[in-house]
Amino acid sequence: MNFTKQEIIDMLNARGADHEALLERALATKLEYLDHFVHLRGLIEYSSVCRKNCLYCGLRSGNSKAIRYTMTDEEVMDCARQAVELRYGSIALQCGERNDKAFTDKIAQLVRDIKKLSDGKLGITLSCGEQSEEVYRQWFEAGAHRYLLRIESSNEELYYKIHPHDDTHAFATRLNCIDTLLKIGYQTGTGTMIGLPFQTVSDMADDLLFFQSKGVAMVGMGPFIPHPDTPLWQYRNDIPSDEERLQMTLRMIAILRLMMPEINMVSASANQTLNPLGRSMAVKAGANVLMPNLSPSPYRKDYIIYPDKQCIEETASFCAAHLELQMRAIKHSILYDEWGDSKAFLKAHPTFR
Ligand code: SAH
Ligand code: SF4
Repeated sequence: MNFTKQEIIDMLNARGADHEALLERALATKLEYLDHFVHLRGLIEYSSVCRKNCLYCGLRSGNSKAIRYTMTDEEVMDCARQAVELRYGSIALQCGERNDKAFTDKIAQLVRDIKKLSDGKLGITLSCGEQSEEVYRQWFEAGAHRYLLRIESSNEELYYKIHPHDDTHAFATRLNCIDTLLKIGYQTGTGTMIGLPFQTVSDMADDLLFFQSKGVAMVGMGPFIPHPDTPLWQYRNDIPSDEERLQMTLRMIAILRLMMPEINMVSASANQTLNPLGRSMAVKAGANVLMPNLSPSPYRKDYIIYPDKQCIEETASFCAAHLELQMRAIKHSILYDEWGDSKAFLKAHPTFR
């Protein structure tokens, strides 16, 4: 469905009964196009080493308090094995950004090894930041078929308020990377944080129009959560409350579901930080993908993009059982052993697979 920017702004400003009606309409649209199914991506937080210095993220290179680790190959393979055993269907390998050849070759090798280990059964999503076209192609040919790279904000001015203004954090590079991923044939996901300092409702409406204009297959939007060891912490009292950032995230998801009914939309784990039911709330507002954590628990406490991350102690199988119950409680079903590709993408690429 197409909306004008003003219509989107009006929906973003909805409160009370109008807010509820928007969420109900989005749920009805999702059920009509995608049924009540939810797909899983087992999240592997591969490494907390990052060359970038984003002003919001606990893993920024300037944060000397962050503990840096990189999982061994065997640890990654153990996660992949668990994903097969728990019948997740897909994994998502995420990490800080590095561009050196040792790293980019390692990711390619891990992708190939995970494919082999699972007999080609596990779908693989990567979220390893900005890379050259050559590297994106190398990883695609190795077997990764989905890639997540949030634009963070489609407004260049705001982008530079939340990133250092230098060559390593160029807005144009971010945009180019998304275009390159789309061109190569990845199911490409992007997204933003909601409730950032300086972010306006007009910016958020533009973000939604940006996703639609790019025709992306997947979107991940989640509330911004201030981290004490980052520069944006100083604005923590100038942003909307936890509750308002969560409710705004739900409206963003709901509106985008109306605009792009067949894309995959993830319920970000940051929702759960703001409300114990946050993950389910986003699914009810239109999300259809969840990313349960598969990282071994000694590492989970060191992959702190934002504070108060949930599920730090739980084992992967506990998380899986918990999700199953949470989804049943809102009359949704998890689809196991499936890649759970974006229906929007499959329609646009009928020969895929
Ligand atoms: N390095 C990769 C992947 C890891 S970061 C990348 O940047 O793409 C994954 C996402 O975490 C980012 O895209 C960002 O949107 C989100 N994130 C970072 N800091 C956050 C914070 N303080 N609150 C909420 N989300 C945050
Ligand atoms: Fe690194 Fe990603 Fe965090 Fe930026 S958001 S500092 S690229 S891990």
